This record gives sequence, structure tokens and C-alpha cells, in this order.
Amino acid sequence: MRLKNKTALVTAAGQGIGYASALALAAEGAQVWATDVNASLLEKFRGVERVQAVQLDVLDKDAIQKVVAGMPAIDVLFNCAGYVHNGTILQATDEEWNFALNLNVRAQFWAIQAALPRMLKQGGGSVINMASVCSSIKGLPNRFIYGTSKAAVIGLTKSVAADYVADGIRCNAICPGTVDTPSLADRINANADPQAARKAFIARQPMGRLAQAHEIAPLVVFLASDESVFVTGQAYAADGGITI
Ligand code: NAD
Repeated sequence: MRLKNKTALVTAAGQGIGYASALALAAEGAQVWATDVNASLLEKFRGVERVQAVQLDVLDKDAIQKVVAGMPAIDVLFNCAGYVHNGTILQATDEEWNFALNLNVRAQFWAIQAALPRMLKQGGGSVINMASVCSSIKGLPNRFIYGTSKAAVIGLTKSVAADYVADGIRCNAICPGTVDTPSLADRINANADPQAARKAFIARQPMGRLAQAHEIAPLVVFLASDESVFVTGQAYAADGGITI
């Protein structure tokens, strides 16, 4: 097993990419703290070997610190929580901006600040931050707040990587294309014509299909493992060719 003796914290593990990643990390031998704000989604982890399901709202700084302090060790932090705001700069409100930036970026700042001292004491660790190809990599229509927030994630990732590169800390971002997750289904169903909306999402993907969450999880496992020991400060795209 590739992650034997590693302990990992995953945020937003209740569904989608976080859920698939928590399962994949545990399957490779990691002890996984699978967390989500929605406790009912965590029921799925009952009976799953090596997974501790813990309710955690990443908008709550004290709660993040408590969860990290309660872990026996922390070798891997996967900051997965995030929200997709729909709209242009002229449609965006201050409330939407604050909410998305707090969830997509500030929560990562808080979680890394909580985990890093322990990783440094242990002599190393791997931080994986959820970004997106919709970021500094690519502009997409109606993703003003989202693209801004995910570009910030890439900057945050590179800053942390630069500061701790000599201390055994690695920090990388992952940048998926469109992944068929419950929140994507919500975004599609919010359209007047959901069928046309799904077709438009698929048309963005040169492979002609959306990703499944379990197709993103192997990247998380790789970045969590010592196989990626020489990899830091990178923004890894798994996007079905959207940025070719
Ligand atoms: P999702 O959006 O379907 O699920 C998100 C999960 O986050 C839910 O379980 C929800 O309960 C949890 N959550 C929401 N607020 C939270 C909070 N305050 N604290 C803790 N958990 C909270 O899952 P997804 O689509 O796989 O998205 C996960 C991440 O991947 C997000 O950061 C998203 O921006 C990013 N991403 C998604 C896609 C995609 O196409 N689905 C593409 C690129 C990046």
C-alpha cells in the first residue's frame, strides 16, 4: 500500500471529489479523517476501514484547529471544500464574493495554518489544494468569482511551497476540468433546459465527456504519497484536454 503510516485530513469529503479521494487514500493504507459540514453525507463512511468521519465546517477557524489537534499526526492535508458561483463581474454581489472567497481560499489558509506546525514538527507533510482549470490557467464564461478564487488558490499554493520547500513540506494544487459530481448536477438542473446545459458542459471537454470523481482521486493519492517527493508548488491539471 502506497500510503501506509500516513494520516490524512480531507475537507468536503461528503460527496464528489472529496469523497472519492478519501476512499482512495484509505484504500492505499492512509488513516483518513474524512470531514464535511454536512454530517449526514458522512454516514457513507460507516464501516469503511481506516476512515474516521468527523463533521467540520471549514468556515469555522476554531473547529479546524480542534479537528487537527485531535488527530494523532497529520501527514496529508487535502483542502477540497469549494463553491462554484455562477455569473459575470456585473452580476456578482459582495455577499457572493465574500462567501466564495472565504470558502474557496480562506478555509485553505486556515487549515494549512492549523496543520503546518505539526507537519514541521514531524519533519514533513503534503498539502493538496483544490483549484480548477478555471483559474489563472483558463478563463471560462460566467465564472468571475469562481475563477478569481481558484487563481488565488494557485498563488496560495506556490507561496506555501516556496516558504517551506527546504523543510520537507510539499504543497501542490489540483486543477480538474468538469467533473460529474452532485453540485454539478445542481448547477445543470438550475438551468431552464438542463439537457442543453449538460450538453454545453460536455462540449467544453475535448474528450467529449465529463470526468468522474474517481478519475481525479488518483492525482490526490500520488501527491499525498512519497512517489511525488520531488513535486512541489505545481498546479496539476486533470481536465480531459480542456487546456491542450
Ligand atoms: P460537491 O461540490 O458536489 O460537494 C462539495 C462538498 O463540500 C459537499 O459535500 C458539501 O457539504 C461540502 N461543503 C460545503 N461547504 C462546506 C464547508 N463550509 N465546510 C466543509 N464542507 C463543506 O463536490 P465537487 O464538485 O467534487 O467539488 C469539490 C471541489 O472540487 C470544490 O472545491 C470545487 O470547486 C472543485 N472542483 C470541482 C469541479 C467539478 O466540475 N465538479 C471542477 C474543478 C474543481
